[in-house]
Amino acid sequence: MNEFEFIDSIKQKTYRNHSIIKGIGDDAAVFRQPYQDIVTAVDTFVDGIHFSRKTMDPYYIGYRVLAANISDMAAMGADPISYLISIVVPKDWHDSDLKEIYRGLNTIATEYQLDLIGGDTVIGEQLVLSVTINGAVAPNKARYRTLMRPGDYIFVTGTLGDASAGLELLLNDNIKLESNHRDYLIKRHRRPSPRVAFAKGLASIDRLALNDISDGISREVNELAQASQLTIYLEVEDFPISDALKQFSREEQVNHILNGGEDFELLGSVAPNQWTYVKEIAKKTNTPIKKIGIVKDEEHNNGKVFIMKDDEKRQLQASGYVHRN
Ligand code: ADP
Ligand code: MG
Repeated sequence: MNEFEFIDSIKQKTYRNHSIIKGIGDDAAVFRQPYQDIVTAVDTFVDGIHFSRKTMDPYYIGYRVLAANISDMAAMGADPISYLISIVVPKDWHDSDLKEIYRGLNTIATEYQLDLIGGDTVIGEQLVLSVTINGAVAPNKARYRTLMRPGDYIFVTGTLGDASAGLELLLNDNIKLESNHRDYLIKRHRRPSPRVAFAKGLASIDRLALNDISDGISREVNELAQASQLTIYLEVEDFPISDALKQFSREEQVNHILNGGEDFELLGSVAPNQWTYVKEIAKKTNTPIKKIGIVKDEEHNNGKVFIMKDDEKRQLQASGYVHRN
């Protein structure tokens, strides 16, 4: 298949979003988005570093690459609209593998109503996928990390550490687990579900800080504390843990929760008087949600995160390292 035939084969016949004026087929795509703020992000994934064919079929590579970008839109409170994909294809990759990547991309794009509006295809040494996503949000409603305030509640959606445990299961055949737990964790790794409906449901809230959990909660929660220059206290007993992850030892659970990345859940900070409303939207959008901490303004601790356990306070570093006092 030559490049022309290839592009033709992945080109959408129609576009889901009216804002797309020109998609694939010219020197660049054009979209029109009146009276909204445009939100855009790019992520690059390299074979052997961000994924491996050992643990991911091409279909899931496509699915997960776009899931990561959609999650960035959710973390901004934005509605994802379109994406472009730049792909470096090694010579030993077959057309059928490439098709599978696009089938994975298209599956999640359909679920979230996104349009593929362009890309670039080149030959290279190693498979590299770079995805650019475009979305939109009402003016001044993007959910920045700097929007945390003293007194806020810290909450998290879903359960933590599952994707990381799923990857460990794929890498290590020796771990024995009941098949339903095993399937659940592997699915969380391969087919994450970005929390777009929930984040969009919170549109009427004036002030809200959001971050998506792409690198493990330790890093994300420290990013919030740093960006807002405030202190976060987390209650370790309140972390949401799936039944499947509970099959692991306590030490492994904590490790997956604190350091394991790519759950693509949302971490948020909201005023206590909005908490009931946030829980209502969570219920309406089938999103498990849990309060896991609070925000304080403590001059000498601002920018830091502490974990409370049995009334004892320990600093949680972005690396996941917990200082024992
Ligand atoms: P140009 O030479 O103007 O860059 P290309 O031949 O690279 O044009 O691309 C032609 C059209 O096909 C453009 O609309 C481009 O966005 C799209 N396209 C190229 N490669 C891909 C790809 N891998 N995935 C999706 N769209 C692509
Ligand atoms: Mg080009």
